[in-house]
Amino acid sequence: MEVFLGIPAADGIGIGTAFVIPEAVKRAIPQHHINIDQINRGWTRFENAVQTVTVNLSEQLDSLSRTDQRDKAQREIFETYVLMLEDPVFKEEVRDFYKKELFNIEYTVQFKAEEYASKLRQSGNDYLAERAQDITDIFGRVLDEMLDIHPFDINSVPDGSVILATSLSSSDTIVLSKRKIAGLALTEGGVSSHVVILARNYGIPTVVGLEAITSKVRNGETVIIDGKAAELLVSPARSTIEEYKQKIREEYLRKQSLKAFLNKPAITKDGILFKLYANIGTPEEAEMALAEGADGIGLFRTEFLYMAQSGASMNAAARSFSEQTQFEAYKTVLQTMGDKPVTIRTLDAGGDKLINSVDIPVFDEKNPLMGLRAVRLCLECPNVFKTQLRALYRASVYGNLKIMFPLITSVEQVKQCLEIVNQVQTELSNEKIPFKKDTPVGIMVETAAAALISDCLVNVTDFFSLGTNDLTQYTLGVDRENSHVSSLYNEFSLAVLRLIEMTIRAGNDANIPVSVCGEMAGKSDSIMVLAGMGIRNLSMSPKHISSTKELLSHFTIAELEAISAKHLNNL
Ligand code: PEP
Ligand code: MG
Repeated sequence: MEVFLGIPAADGIGIGTAFVIPEAVKRAIPQHHINIDQINRGWTRFENAVQTVTVNLSEQLDSLSRTDQRDKAQREIFETYVLMLEDPVFKEEVRDFYKKELFNIEYTVQFKAEEYASKLRQSGNDYLAERAQDITDIFGRVLDEMLDIHPFDINSVPDGSVILATSLSSSDTIVLSKRKIAGLALTEGGVSSHVVILARNYGIPTVVGLEAITSKVRNGETVIIDGKAAELLVSPARSTIEEYKQKIREEYLRKQSLKAFLNKPAITKDGILFKLYANIGTPEEAEMALAEGADGIGLFRTEFLYMAQSGASMNAAARSFSEQTQFEAYKTVLQTMGDKPVTIRTLDAGGDKLINSVDIPVFDEKNPLMGLRAVRLCLECPNVFKTQLRALYRASVYGNLKIMFPLITSVEQVKQCLEIVNQVQTELSNEKIPFKKDTPVGIMVETAAAALISDCLVNVTDFFSLGTNDLTQYTLGVDRENSHVSSLYNEFSLAVLRLIEMTIRAGNDANIPVSVCGEMAGKSDSIMVLAGMGIRNLSMSPKHISSTKELLSHFTIAELEAISAKHLNNL
């Protein structure tokens, strides 16, 4: 047996078969001229590739349900792809160009597909602009076939696998959440990276920081992953497997015992009430939040919604960015939660959370985490922002909505957002569309800038929600996604705690609610410190709600205050 040690990321034990995700191969298109006598050979290769891709698509189409609504979007995409591949007019154009210019077939296909896509993009028609992405996608598949590149399809991972990969995208993790995955062993990714946050939400045991793990373990080997101990055990002995099976049973029993807290309020030993909310990324997770006894949704990360819609292909995200799709999703969550509050955060795309939308240009940024992320991106693309706000306000009549802006750094920025909120409200009123005008609008405090001016921000916001993941990252200058600096990522750093303290004080003085929705809100050691500092609203992975109730029940507020005082006094 071999044991690899990494960094603990998501608790839990998984026993399964190793599945190594291969590194992505980049498509490089050769460009050269050909002789007339090579034309036919090239053209046959193109036609064969088109046929193979069409057959693959038809097989994928057959595997999708005709009745299940969740498969509907994917079906429509594949059907459009097949029509595009069969389009005789486009094929004729490619052929004419090929014969006239005598470029190699790969370059010809790439050139003509790009030319076609850019015409559609510039058409000024939303529907046609969305088709541009389809053209790029489908002829990309044809090119991959001709170049013998076989991109890895995350859907092909078998159930029961422990996945070994260098890194994983958030959208792939969402796809995996719908499967029975025994664990994730990654080389890259920090403890507050979004992949890890998702893994925690979905209960997938995860270890990060496992150096070159994809070259150390072979596909098919039996492995055990222990998220808490940060261990990956390869080819364990039968007795070791039995030992870990016993640990899994114990974990299960502990979860069962926590059910006693399910319908109870979250109170300390001396009777102080806390509100425990859930962090979610898709409407379906609202059901999970309810089942775990959440007092509401404290953070709906709407960018995950679009990633989830995309499934294996990012292309669907481009299509589904419409007001109506968003409205349906928000309405579902609000209706699921009844009169419980639901805080929906406006798009926090950019940085590591890339979204492929026809409405969002691709910005070439050297340092995306410091770049056009979150509210900055929304203010740069006001139409995207407005579409989301329209969907949110339209949904507001279906429940107890709160709207929240991420990554705020100045009062001016909040005013700019509120100006767009005003425009949206005026539009909806003119269109006689009902909405709740008094929907609370708050901000995330997740930059040192916001915490330092929290006493000024209280004048332009209805509430604060502390995003401790980014607050830690930006205050300490430590990339939360980078496992090499994970040991420096310290949420208990005095610098971070002082900023949290400042924000709580400003919120209390102005009498506006302050909650925490970063990962600190779901971990027992930090919950105690936050509670001792005066936080009474915590938003976390739904899976941590019962254990948080249990934890709080063991302490009085005075005891919790003593714990946080130690940290604040740097003892
Ligand atoms: C945070 O930064 O703490 C937060 C909750 O937002 P996200 O993790 O989505 O950046
Ligand atoms: Mg954040």
